[in-house]
Amino acid sequence: MISVFELFKIGIGPSSSHTVGPMVAAARFLADLRALPAPPARMAVSLHGSLAFTGRGHASDTAICLGLLGERPDTVDPDAVPGLVAGLARDGAIRVGNRDVAFDPDADLVLDTAEMLPGHTNGMRFRAFDEAGALALERVYYSIGGGFVVGEQAADTGASAPMEVAAPLPFDSADALVALCRARGVDIAAVQRENETALRPLDEVEAGLDRIAAAMLACIERGLSTGGTLPGRLKVRRRARDLHARLQAGERANIRSPSEVMDRVSTFAIAVNEENAAGGRVVTAPTNGAAGIVPAVLRYLREICGETSPETTRTFLLTAAAIGGLIKRKASISGAEVGCQGEVGSAASMAAAGLAAALGATPEQVENAAEIAMEHHLGMTCDPVGGLVQIPCIERNAFGAIKAIAAASLALHGDGVHHVSLDCVIETMRQTGLDMQSKYKETSQGGLAVNVAEC
Ligand code: SF4
Repeated sequence: MISVFELFKIGIGPSSSHTVGPMVAAARFLADLRALPAPPARMAVSLHGSLAFTGRGHASDTAICLGLLGERPDTVDPDAVPGLVAGLARDGAIRVGNRDVAFDPDADLVLDTAEMLPGHTNGMRFRAFDEAGALALERVYYSIGGGFVVGEQAADTGASAPMEVAAPLPFDSADALVALCRARGVDIAAVQRENETALRPLDEVEAGLDRIAAAMLACIERGLSTGGTLPGRLKVRRRARDLHARLQAGERANIRSPSEVMDRVSTFAIAVNEENAAGGRVVTAPTNGAAGIVPAVLRYLREICGETSPETTRTFLLTAAAIGGLIKRKASISGAEVGCQGEVGSAASMAAAGLAAALGATPEQVENAAEIAMEHHLGMTCDPVGGLVQIPCIERNAFGAIKAIAAASLALHGDGVHHVSLDCVIETMRQTGLDMQSKYKETSQGGLAVNVAEC
């Protein structure tokens, strides 16, 4: 099973596959270095495939440095990152046991666009050498999306690194999930909750869900109150604060626009994705690039629909996680594997399911909501301009959130009976991802990335 806490992870921006994953991999390598009988003399890292093409814009190089310094995505202070990286560049070494291991990020961290590693497009090779220059340790990791990292062997077998725990209520398709709900007379959130308790006690599950929701909502608030320009050569101006101020002024003056609800939801999503692009604290949902959709729809549920109880929020998150877990297992949530349909499409599908469930949908209606949202993201490519998670990513989250709300609403107006099943759409997404040219999978080699002038 894939836990709700694997799909929703508190981390930092701008990318789960290109920032959080490399940081996790580097920290794993550091742990392996510490386990050696004697620390090596120096080390080197190479990034491959999509990580090499868009690694600078996605801060993969920074993430590797942070991981080698022993930092973790969920605990690192985003404001301390520049100082930590500058310190490593100055020292030219990381500390392993009682020894400094030479590592100059400028020379020893290579973005290798020529070699693709065999297991996955997001490959990383870590090497350590002894005093004589002989190889002391080598590890290959793959960042497979959503912050998940696997070692060489798991990628060879196509494993996707979910927790190896037997779920008490297993399901391997949306149809099976709905049938399970029907047979037991429960909703999808109840099935996911029961499965979560195989990993941790119920009170920990609920406390963890409350923490995730709080982190999502806090991220929106930070985004709404922060202006300025995003990092990177595009010099993208942050918009969420001004949009929010404008909406509030209209509200105070009792000037209501017909598009006000849509504008508010867009602003919430943009706030999160601007925080993400700035390297701030975000929750992968299920990735960083798509991190704005689930929080924006959650705030819509609480603020516009008035559903603020902790239990409703937990229902929202658990249902979204059940759908996200299915998509991850049967297809992918990685832009580098299947394009943006796997990131923004999956997030919209999860948010639609969560919203429908929180508003009282039957399992059949929830499945329909998830299906509608995913169906209308099929084929969406990943083509971030300048390799930065900014254009089209930020606005794309706004549209994903609005589609998710529309999908939930359509499903709630129906009776759950529909032509295209969620299972069919997930499989279509997988096949479409296989057919998609690799230049549209987080390489910035095609689409908007080559047609938008960088000035
Ligand atoms: S275009 Fe989509 S998949 Fe690609 S980086 Fe942006 S949000 Fe992620």
